[in-house]
Amino acid sequence: MVLERLQKVIAEAGIASRRKAEKMIEEGRVTVDGAIITQLGTKVDTFSNITVDGEPIERESLHTYLFYKPRGVVSTVSDDKGRKTVADYFKDLPYRLYPIGRLDYDTSGLLLMTNDGQLANLLMHPRSEVAKVYVAKINGQLLPEEIGLLKRGVTIDHQKCAPAKVKIIRTDKKKNMQIVQLTIHEGHYHQVKRMFKAVNHQVRKLSRERYSFLTLDSLISGKYRELSHAEVDRLK
Ligand code: URA
Repeated sequence: MVLERLQKVIAEAGIASRRKAEKMIEEGRVTVDGAIITQLGTKVDTFSNITVDGEPIERESLHTYLFYKPRGVVSTVSDDKGRKTVADYFKDLPYRLYPIGRLDYDTSGLLLMTNDGQLANLLMHPRSEVAKVYVAKINGQLLPEEIGLLKRGVTIDHQKCAPAKVKIIRTDKKKNMQIVQLTIHEGHYHQVKRMFKAVNHQVRKLSRERYSFLTLDSLISGKYRELSHAEVDRLK
């Protein structure tokens, strides 16, 4: 659940500065879901009904975008090293969007961006088990027993991964590489790279081609499109 401080939400709705919003809360002028809240720092979610002096405040409408993340971009909204972030691609939109999960700096592909905290929490929850399809260019060629390990569930750093689907797309012995499609339902840190490492292969290039039923279709790198309500509902 993405929760935000009440005074921040009031300030961002343009009602008052954060300092003034704090004062309003302390004065008992603010309700959340019908109850007067005077405690500063109370956390609210996207769906909380908030009133100030009896007037409901306008919450940001909910938007979710399918983004084709390029390589060389961080999946955060700010970066202390000054690198390009996924948020840089959405600067023209008036919403505070954040990524649902992450792709590595050097991974490209499908990343959802949203301001819908409930959707993000739902999809990022380990129990959600969303299917994610990756295409990896790896060093060498997978041996049948290595494919078997990936399919049964390889162990990375003492953690057993769930069974993966493995499909060899192309093998190039001269270049000592293989293109492999891997379907997983989890989202551990560097999971795909670590899964291949566990069977002694290094990932040279990685991209995410599918997330649940969503694919990149005709999107080009660095571009996005908004999901329809029907698509968002289907994700839930
Ligand atoms: N697995 C990885 O190793 N990297 C990604 O970016 C996504 C999945």
